[in-house]
Amino acid sequence: MSAPSGIRADSPSDSSTGAPGVARRMLSRTIARTVMMATAGVAVVCALFFAAVFYLVVDDRAARDLEAECKAFAEVLDDRSGDAVSTVALLDEDAVIAPSDTRVTLVDEDGSVLYDNRADVAQLENHALRPEVIQAMETGEGRSGRYSATLDEETLYHSIRLDDGSVLRLAVTQASVWGVLQSLALPYAALLAAAVLAAFLAAWAISRKIASEFSTVDLDHPLENDAPQEIVPLLERLDAQKKSIDAQAAERRRFTANVSHELKTPLTVISGYAEIIDRGIARPEDVQKFAGLIHAEAQRMKMLVDELLTLSRLDDAQAAAEAMPVAMDQDVSLTQVAHAVAARLEPAAERRNVSLRARTPDEDGLSDIVVRGNARMLEEMARNLVENAIRYNVEGGRVVVDVSRDRRGAPMLRVVDTGVGIPPELREKVFERFFCVDESRSKETGGTGLGLAIVKHAAQLHGAKVRVYGNDPRGSVFEVTFPV
Ligand code: ADP
Repeated sequence: MSAPSGIRADSPSDSSTGAPGVARRMLSRTIARTVMMATAGVAVVCALFFAAVFYLVVDDRAARDLEAECKAFAEVLDDRSGDAVSTVALLDEDAVIAPSDTRVTLVDEDGSVLYDNRADVAQLENHALRPEVIQAMETGEGRSGRYSATLDEETLYHSIRLDDGSVLRLAVTQASVWGVLQSLALPYAALLAAAVLAAFLAAWAISRKIASEFSTVDLDHPLENDAPQEIVPLLERLDAQKKSIDAQAAERRRFTANVSHELKTPLTVISGYAEIIDRGIARPEDVQKFAGLIHAEAQRMKMLVDELLTLSRLDDAQAAAEAMPVAMDQDVSLTQVAHAVAARLEPAAERRNVSLRARTPDEDGLSDIVVRGNARMLEEMARNLVENAIRYNVEGGRVVVDVSRDRRGAPMLRVVDTGVGIPPELREKVFERFFCVDESRSKETGGTGLGLAIVKHAAQLHGAKVRVYGNDPRGSVFEVTFPV
């Protein structure tokens, strides 16, 4: 399973330096984007916040200053004159000093402008409807603020009704919030540019740091690295993967050694007898016997190769299991499988004087038991179990192929025999490839040690569990339980 991916990783088209390079570039881009967005966000919020605070504070101060100025000036005018005409005269002759930077306007009771230090009185319209003037007329004091058309500036007004009945109005113009913001725009643009640059530098440094953490990892001993907390889960996975690869490699080596050994034994026998015949040193009456032995060994080799091919096919099926091969999609009647296998192996059972029968629910008038999977694979599984049950049986023994459901309703195939049985401590091992409880009996009856490995493999592909336990009073029960 790991072999194809290993080959793929080493192939030149997908060079090992290419992939991490791409990942690192993406990483630094992600970091840069995040840092930049955070910085820009903070900068914008700060700009708005400072502009608002600045404006509120300045606006409030300006309004209060204006009010104080207006009051002081109104007091001076009230002291020095008794009627509007003389007030205008005072103002016109600069006999009183108007507060600097301030527009001073005097509005008559009817709203006409009597005096303005910034504009030509004749040009000015009637001011009776200006809010600050209306307020002053009514309450003695009035205030208002107005934005200029461009919104860049705001004008604050404060007015006070003089004793002579006219209204004195003072006005100052200052930058509006928008104006404040506009004046802040340039420094902020510079700040933002600096933030972008800093983000790029930070992203570059961070991603380099991360990349260097990864590149210095000792992959041969993943858990012995002095690595940052964040990559420990990755290292743990690498460690698990490495262990599983090592285990697979060991398993493969053992398997190859076993296969070589199993193939070599019959070959040695064949080549030995063939040589004797070839050299003409065999007694004529033995030639026939040797030919029979050669044939038997060749037969055995053929069976071994067949079973190896089956196992390798199952390995492939397992590798492709994620892709769900179509062949695993059939509805297979376990009842039919049991009867087919029992019928096929009936002659073999008879030869060994063992009784063989299938016990399935439809005999009792119950409904059929169907599982999802591959019919051929399931038949092969059942055949291997029944073959063993016959092979490791005793004179006059019995074999029953039983199909039923367990308490949870899961389909179950059981092969029950009254044979020699398996010692409890070896029951788990019998599923290993090439394992034989009794080598000589296995050989003598044509076993290869691969049958149960095939059974286990096929069961796994069906999501089924295989279990073996002792039969009472003697023999074994092999039980395959399918998913509900
Ligand atoms: P073999 O080709 O040797 O039968 P298997 O993988 O089918 O290989 O079985 C492994 C070993 O398990 C056998 O050698 C045999 O010793 C034991 N075994 C399998 N089935 C039975 C059974 N029904 N009763 C007793 N022993 C069994």
